[in-house]
Amino acid sequence: MKLGILGGGQLARMMALAAHPLGISCTVLDPGAEPCAGAVADVIRGEYDDLRSLYELAQASDVITYEFENVPVECARWLAERLPVFPPPGALEVSQDRIVEKNFFEKLGIPTPAFADVLTRAEFDRSLRGIGLPAVLKTRRFGYDGKGQCVIRTAEQIEAAWAQLGGRPLILEGFVPFDRELSLIAVRNRTGECRFYPLVENEHRDGMLYKSLAPAANTGEELTERACDFAERVLTELNYVGVLAIEWFQDGPRLIANEMAPRVHNSGHWTIEGAACSQFENHVRAVCGLPLGSTSAVGHSGLFNLIGHRPDFDSILERSGTHLHWYGKEPKPRRKVGHVTIAATSADERDHLAAELLLRHDFAIR
Ligand code: AMP
Repeated sequence: MKLGILGGGQLARMMALAAHPLGISCTVLDPGAEPCAGAVADVIRGEYDDLRSLYELAQASDVITYEFENVPVECARWLAERLPVFPPPGALEVSQDRIVEKNFFEKLGIPTPAFADVLTRAEFDRSLRGIGLPAVLKTRRFGYDGKGQCVIRTAEQIEAAWAQLGGRPLILEGFVPFDRELSLIAVRNRTGECRFYPLVENEHRDGMLYKSLAPAANTGEELTERACDFAERVLTELNYVGVLAIEWFQDGPRLIANEMAPRVHNSGHWTIEGAACSQFENHVRAVCGLPLGSTSAVGHSGLFNLIGHRPDFDSILERSGTHLHWYGKEPKPRRKVGHVTIAATSADERDHLAAELLLRHDFAIR
């Protein structure tokens, strides 16, 4: 079986590493000179909207998937006319635009922050009156890792937010006073079977994922069931195949959807060591029509991202229970270049290892 992947970054790289033992070889399409997945997959260098490159990818593949949600939808559809493309391109359409996404959640009865569509200054002022402060102004499209967004806490910050983002299609969201952020990684196969990894607790710093703990503590059956129920509504509505991640704000007993990603997700990287079958393997299994693997956690895991710099590898690897994933990318400011997973048998042991690791390495975003 041959899997074609749109995008050749670390997510494609980890997908290809998971595909290899299953006898599945991968080809990635990426416009970059040296995509990091190139170490473990064949590479076609080209733009995502270049028909010649898409044709070449289709020729090299039995099935197509993608590692990021900003693939042009019409290119995914062009491929889908020729061979199976999973997740379905409709999932890209929903997740590429924050307004479309929030309307989609609402339609399925999934709670969201208060939100309003903003294009003009008059709409901005009107939505500020409706939603109130604090609020978050975001670009509707192409925002990630905190880029293209601005928190407005006081009336004095309104002008600066508009000066920074105004003029583009925007969304104004009510600021959710959340207790914590959670994410749920779900997978659905071609026959409609759904499985869910345990809820993960995530800490963001400066808009980027800094740390994840899995399974999240004190989630309780009810919260877990609600998250799985909401995710299943999304999966079913989209006739989804593959891994899907949904990020949540938890406010007491409430789960409020922040956003979804129609792909493997950073907050699921712990599953490589910490789950019976990783999110990468389950994604490959799902899109290739193979039976799903178990999504059970095998212990307690922690994940720290390596952002913007190369750590001293020895200081991370010295302790048993810590695993380094270096993506082979050149460190640049705010660029994710690797991650470290802590795999332990108990939450206490995991937290102890994490505290020790933090003494040697600060994992600060650089
Ligand atoms: P996003 O790119 O939308 O996932 O936002 C990045 C991070 O900003 C989130 O993980 C939250 O920590 C914070 N954030 C975004 N939107 C909101 C909101 N409406 N209320 C509170 N915090 C938010």
